Amino acid sequence: MNAEDEKILQPKIASREVTTHILKAFGLHMSKKLGQNFLIDAGIVQGIVDAAEIEPGEKILEIGPGIGTLTQGLAEAGAMVTAVELDKKLPAVLAETLKGYDNVRIVPGDILKVDIPALMGEGPYKVAANLPYYITTPILMALLERHLPITRMVTMVQKEVAERMVAKPGSKTYGALSVAVQYYTDPEIVLDVPPRSFLPAPEVDSVVIVCKVRETPSVAVKDEKRFFRVVKAAFGQRRKTLSNALKGGGFPKEQVRDAMERAGIDPTRRGETLSLAEFGRLADAFAEE
Ligand code: SAM
Repeated sequence: MNAEDEKILQPKIASREVTTHILKAFGLHMSKKLGQNFLIDAGIVQGIVDAAEIEPGEKILEIGPGIGTLTQGLAEAGAMVTAVELDKKLPAVLAETLKGYDNVRIVPGDILKVDIPALMGEGPYKVAANLPYYITTPILMALLERHLPITRMVTMVQKEVAERMVAKPGSKTYGALSVAVQYYTDPEIVLDVPPRSFLPAPEVDSVVIVCKVRETPSVAVKDEKRFFRVVKAAFGQRRKTLSNALKGGGFPKEQVRDAMERAGIDPTRRGETLSLAEFGRLADAFAEE
């Protein structure tokens, strides 16, 4: 049998029946600790594939392929998929469930520890993933902060996290994650996903969010590290005024006073009211110390 025949004989993994069959056949037990909630809804898999806007031959990094449900959809769309999976039992399963797809490379390992720049080479890459929810923020930050050659990220995340990613200043959900995501990307929630689309059904609602990575960040700052230090300090103690939160975050009192004055920001405001542009101005004002 050649690779093409094997592929044709392969059923769509994204259904309750096929997924249950695979789990049974390989004696797999889903791990809550690893955030294993596998997709069983072919419509949602297609929704993620469509949102990735794949051109045949395009390179995609998938995080946590599980038993290959989304991987199969991405491979069918003609992507060259590199999928990093932490669960040591799964690469052998994936070798069977994705038999016949020669455009898939499985990399065993922890996405927070593998050398992603080396995996990606010169890129460009897109990211597509039904993320393990217990480490959503560290994964997003690891992908964003390192200026990797990523153009678009399409991820399934907990609805409440997505709301933080797109939140605007002044809202309760606006925080350091909102600033980081909106500094590097233009995020947009594109799909609501109910718990019944997964096996087992999670206790939370999910959404698919597209983050288009910007060619240049949304605000120009002199020093990115300092910008994020200011942002983290500002949100570190949400109930304090901005000036007290910055002092609490380790910025010396006089510097805080002078920087806020130079940036024209009222020290009694709270961090959660500052726009990205205002955070940028404030961080740059510290540079003049
Ligand atoms: N992509 C599959 C799907 O949509 O059905 C599985 C998604 S499941 C929500 C998350 C996957 O991420 C699991 O397969 C889990 O084993 C894997 N995972 C968990 N932590 C990981 C990590 N640190 N690095 C790579 N994969 C991880």
